Amino acid sequence: MTFSDIVGHQKQLATLRWALAKDRLHHAYFFLGPEGVGKRTVALSLAMAIQCRERDYDSCGGCANCRQVQSGNHPDVRVVAPLAGKKEISIQQVRELERELNYRAFSGRKKIALVDPASLMNFSAQNALLKTLEEPPKESLLILLSTSTGAVLPTLLSRCLRLSFSPLPAEVVASFLVAQKGMKQQEAELLAAMTMGSLGKAVSPETQELVARTRVWAEKVGALTRGDCRGWMTLAEELASAREDSLKFLEWVKGWYRDILIYRVTESSRGISNLAVERDIKQQANLYTRERLLFLLSRALQAEADIRRNVNRRMALENFFAHVAGLR
Ligand SMILES: [Zn+2]
Repeated sequence: MTFSDIVGHQKQLATLRWALAKDRLHHAYFFLGPEGVGKRTVALSLAMAIQCRERDYDSCGGCANCRQVQSGNHPDVRVVAPLAGKKEISIQQVRELERELNYRAFSGRKKIALVDPASLMNFSAQNALLKTLEEPPKESLLILLSTSTGAVLPTLLSRCLRLSFSPLPAEVVASFLVAQKGMKQQEAELLAAMTMGSLGKAVSPETQELVARTRVWAEKVGALTRGDCRGWMTLAEELASAREDSLKFLEWVKGWYRDILIYRVTESSRGISNLAVERDIKQQANLYTRERLLFLLSRALQAEADIRRNVNRRMALENFFAHVAGLR
């Protein structure tokens, strides 16, 4: 991806482009920001801009160097992440990285490495990397990426130039989804709101599947409230088959009641996150008192706590639905 293809983060890009043009790139950066917001995209674009032989201070996107960076096969650009089945980045991985950064670039201009996420380096790996940063190899660039600084040694952080990435404004994400993904405006706005400014999450298939499912859930929970109890056992059974699904549902249903409560109190859709089912929320608001909504919210929280404590999922969900239907 060339710099101009990147959505948002204009200030961060300007900083990097300026450094690139003035040959003032730092040898180590720390990209800090929420998941899916575009840190890795920016880091790889920078790597491409450095390695590209066709264009100065940006990438062409089409030459061998650009293509290799894009496909993850460039000999001078390496992404270090936990190995398959491992939870941490080990000291061996960091030592290997250090060795590599000391070699001369093969076909690019610099040796570049991304550590993503940097917070998963264990203590000894971080200490080993610190040594590398104290005497950075010539013509090398290290980019550490993380959603927080909590698990990273302060001494390591202090050796990196920090660049913070904020969630993209919802309207930026929404217009990208309309223009580039051909989505309908309402759908795009919903996804942007749901994923809180994370373009990566908005385009992920899991999120899109979740949107489709929330429509079904809204319909079923709505019917239950109106006293139509058909299918609630089946819904409980379906959801209970996977722990993750049960928890996703309860997370959603809490937001659903929260939205109805907001609408009930403010009589406005501002602050509502379930935009796709906004109409249902307005209708539902007439069916509840505030006390009832708070009660159901507390029941949803209870069911969630029960499932986290490994109480029988089906029982916890059936219990919850019985409260929703007013049977208990
Ligand atoms: Zn190129």
